[in-house]
Amino acid sequence: MNKIKSYLASNRMFFSFAWKNHKSYYLFYAITTLYSVFSNIFTVYLPKLSLTAFLEKKDFRLGVIYIVAYISIIIIWSYVERKISLAQGLNTQAITFEMKSKIYEKIGSNNMLAFEDNEQFNAFSRAFDYTERGADEFVNSLFRLLSCVLTIIGVSYVIGSVNIWIVFIVFATLIIAQLCMKKTNKLWFDYQHNERLKKIRLIQHISQLFQNKDFISEIKLFNAIPFSVNILRSKSKDFAIENNEQDIRRFKWNFFAIALNNIQFLCVHIYFGFLLFMESITIATYSTLLAAIEQFSSSFGNLLQIFTELQNSATEAEYYLSYLSDTTYEQKGKIRVDSMKNIEFENVSFAYPNQSRNAVDDVSIEISAGEKIAIVGENGSGKTTFLKILLGLYPASQGRVIFNQSYDIKDIELSSWYDKVATIMQNSIQMPLSVKDNISLADDGVDEEMLNYAIDFAGLKDYIDSLPSKENSLISKRFYTDGVDFSGGEKQKLSIARALYKSADVLVFDEPSSALDPNSEYDFFQKVYALGAGKTVIYVSHRLSTVVNADKIAVFQNGKIVELGNHSELMSQNGLYAEMFRKQASNFTVSEGK
Ligand code: ADP
Repeated sequence: MNKIKSYLASNRMFFSFAWKNHKSYYLFYAITTLYSVFSNIFTVYLPKLSLTAFLEKKDFRLGVIYIVAYISIIIIWSYVERKISLAQGLNTQAITFEMKSKIYEKIGSNNMLAFEDNEQFNAFSRAFDYTERGADEFVNSLFRLLSCVLTIIGVSYVIGSVNIWIVFIVFATLIIAQLCMKKTNKLWFDYQHNERLKKIRLIQHISQLFQNKDFISEIKLFNAIPFSVNILRSKSKDFAIENNEQDIRRFKWNFFAIALNNIQFLCVHIYFGFLLFMESITIATYSTLLAAIEQFSSSFGNLLQIFTELQNSATEAEYYLSYLSDTTYEQKGKIRVDSMKNIEFENVSFAYPNQSRNAVDDVSIEISAGEKIAIVGENGSGKTTFLKILLGLYPASQGRVIFNQSYDIKDIELSSWYDKVATIMQNSIQMPLSVKDNISLADDGVDEEMLNYAIDFAGLKDYIDSLPSKENSLISKRFYTDGVDFSGGEKQKLSIARALYKSADVLVFDEPSSALDPNSEYDFFQKVYALGAGKTVIYVSHRLSTVVNADKIAVFQNGKIVELGNHSELMSQNGLYAEMFRKQASNFTVSEGK
């Protein structure tokens, strides 16, 4: 029942996209269906018409006219059909993209825990596959179904006029053959959407790594290319063997069905031959019957096939809709905020899925508008996770994050929070677009003045001026002949420019200068402090010289804030911060002295 409901719902979605913008979609299908019925029936009658003209009426001209008419129709149709299928291809592409865009939007509306759940990736792939090949299956199948039913009625009449039992016998054998294949079809379908899908995903991923510059350069240096190829070889081999086994299982039943159909075909042939031999039918009727029986079998076979396809696509539609309607990771907040005045963590804890240890553990801190908050601590102490909770990317497992002293962050419409905040997170990713697009991330025009300011501020001006097409240069040599690749430090500067271009009131940075040289880093923080006057700045830094001017420094250890205060307060506490600060300062002095 659920399956039927989701099938209808997903098809309603498809129909409404098609109806709104692509009405010709239906017209094209109707034309194709009518033609296919006409051609199926004409093919059956043609031998009779031409043979009667040649043999009985002795009218050679008439026989030739029939044949020429038929062939002309085929030629004209092949042209029309090509035109229609090209236009239909565009329609289908546009409609299925609308279905796909729902998946992309869904990913955007989930929190980041979805990326920790392997089953989400499988669910995504299943839903995506539906839009790739199943979304227009229903309409397609309905029209094909109509064509098959009309053809079957037409040819049944021809066969039934000689012997109605033949229709029933052929009908029964085809049904038995279909039943034989039903179970294996189901097994194959389940395999295809579960085990096979998981294996394909893994193999595709490893294989795509071979296109990844960083992966190849690292693996090369370990002389591990043969190792990686072997892994891929053995995974591909296992997959092929398993796939084969499934195919063989299917083949046994399929072979039985094919044999059964052919035996039926043989018997019917002999029977018609017998009628001809006994002169109960003319040679023209004989050839019509043979063509009719063939058309009947293939149309009926198609009809049963369409039912299987409909059933399969109903299950795929269920995958699609259950992915879209899965609320496990959905961020449902609806309250819009128009500014950030205050954010308070109240005993917040968070553990990543399947981890026994809290990455953030019972953290309480208050951040007010205009403050400069630095987050420091050893690797793995929970700093990045803290920022991600602050940004609503991960929901707190325990405790609350209170926004503007009024709302729990989970009740806030996060896009309204994101309007106010500019972030620089680690591992910023660029799209294969121009430098300008990567900084502005907008398709409704770029503020050139702001763009130049952001580029200049980020320390990228000289570099971008040296590029052949300046800020219009396309990122990635992988896709563009004249594309450009950025180094780690340049990528980081690009994400600084992106954050600056946004001109937000709150700046959240996660080690924004980790890939910068000391001079650029120094400049960067000078500018951030100048720019940040009146703004809220929350930043993680591993270089303690950059945090001395912060209003508050939160020192993380094992997920907890173990010290909180400004530089001089923490130094006088003489705890972890003071120890870390002295160590870094002495490193600096030693290396300077050397
Ligand atoms: P920091 O930013 O201080 O280096 P993180 O917030 O990145 O620390 O990580 C805190 C802890 O959570 C670490 O023990 C880390 O291994 C763990 N962790 C981080 N990301 C994940 C993840 N996606 N899944 C499981 N554990 C994670």
